[in-house]
Amino acid sequence: MLLIAFAWAFPSSGARSSDAAGARIPIENDVIVAGARLHVRLDPASLELPPDEIIEWVRRSAKIVVGYYGRFPVPSAELRITTVDGHGVRHGQAFVAPEPGIRLTVGREVTRSELFADWVLVHEMTHLALPEVGEAHAWLAEGLATYVEGIARVQAGNLDARELWQEDVEAMPKGMPAAGDQGLDHTHTWGRTYWGGAVFCLAADVAIHERSGNRRGLQDALRAVLGDSGGMGSRWAIERVFETGDAATGTSVLVESYRAMRDTPSAPSLASLWDRLGIRIHDGAVQLETGTPQAAIRDAIVAPRRP
Ligand SMILES: [Zn+2]
Repeated sequence: MLLIAFAWAFPSSGARSSDAAGARIPIENDVIVAGARLHVRLDPASLELPPDEIIEWVRRSAKIVVGYYGRFPVPSAELRITTVDGHGVRHGQAFVAPEPGIRLTVGREVTRSELFADWVLVHEMTHLALPEVGEAHAWLAEGLATYVEGIARVQAGNLDARELWQEDVEAMPKGMPAAGDQGLDHTHTWGRTYWGGAVFCLAADVAIHERSGNRRGLQDALRAVLGDSGGMGSRWAIERVFETGDAATGTSVLVESYRAMRDTPSAPSLASLWDRLGIRIHDGAVQLETGTPQAAIRDAIVAPRRP
């Protein structure tokens, strides 16, 4: 069971702002999720939504990540939220120095439904679960955050599975090697970093499920990496990430996949992956098979896990 609570903090000076009616709006809050303390610092410039909605968004996003990893990645983190004109959650960045944290930029007209459908904060929180592996391997950090965000949201009931697979079918071709590609470690384009990394993760997830009789997945590997490393505050060689993950699943999928994709433009066939997941595509729209071994693997990937 998750322990969830939040409490407003009322610093003694200068840390509150006023709205037009003169009510004082607290802007610093501690959100406690599964024992982790998230200190939220909200830009005093006014949002149209009440600050409680921001807190609810932080809490929901943290719960989604806790559901995936079995715990929040770090014991405490600072969330600095600044506001700009307009709608939506605009930008996020995870950092570790001096303490783990996330910077976020939110539109002052952001709506409740935009916060509910937001992927940015879950993506950034996911970054906190991987040790630093170095700039050359940014594809792993970004690929994992891109891949895990959607899976974790489906597991938590925050995103419909069909929508997830539809988005993956549409976006993953952006991760395929283009002419001149030299492998994931040497091709630092946007497409290869975010979606090439995500394709690596999806292919590894499917292969782990297939080789383990559908009992293990990438999620088990990532939980083990977080458990051994403590997440983004530590620095690991990328090989250690894959060796630790493989040990947790009783396979060699991650080490083998890395060897195959790091220095050469090789990539898994997306058509084959959709096939192995029981995903059919008609006129660009995904249809999900049911009752087949492939559907069982697809369902297991997005099924909620025990802590
Ligand atoms: Zn990222």
